[in-house]
Amino acid sequence: MVATVGVLALQGGVEEHLRILDGLGVATRRVRVPRDLDGLDGLVIPGGESSVIDKLARSFGLAEPLRDAAAAGLPVLATCAGLIYCARELDNPAPGQQTLGLLDVTVRRNAFGNQRFSEERTVPVTAGEETLDIEASFIRAPLVTRVGEGVEVIATVPGEDGDAVVGVRQGRVTALSFHPEENGDARVHAAWLDSF
Ligand code: GLN
Repeated sequence: MVATVGVLALQGGVEEHLRILDGLGVATRRVRVPRDLDGLDGLVIPGGESSVIDKLARSFGLAEPLRDAAAAGLPVLATCAGLIYCARELDNPAPGQQTLGLLDVTVRRNAFGNQRFSEERTVPVTAGEETLDIEASFIRAPLVTRVGEGVEVIATVPGEDGDAVVGVRQGRVTALSFHPEENGDARVHAAWLDSF
């Protein structure tokens, strides 16, 4: 049984993840400063604006402790801006934007259109032996444009040049372009918790 899951609470869709985790009976903690990482069993990195999350994390001295915790095996679930923040490389970073580099992927920000673009569609997501059909919200969503060795693709959507990668997993880091939490669907979180 999982004891405590943190949600990186610097900016963005923190409350939606907390609500889902609460609903699953998991103890939660907002993570804002390095000591908030102590004793966590998992960490969610929410959507929002990845360049702001990056700036705040660095100014709160959190970026290195986050990298260290992930390197030490802390399971991470990242959505949207969280995926961007976990990537090793960005096609189109904001000026000065840095990432944690937890996933050997390249990500293009805002790949599905402009600020206002948002849509929902059903996306099959591989979770262990299962495939979950998730009603996913894409909100200025990123795309994975390069997948390194050792990275498993867990979700795709049909794109102009074949399948576009919208979900990946490498080791204990799972990341999705979209928001499974927006609709209150707990299945992705439940499967992630089961994989600990
Ligand atoms: N476009 C945002 C970014 O660059 C991500 C959008 C989201 O998290 N919904 O961080």
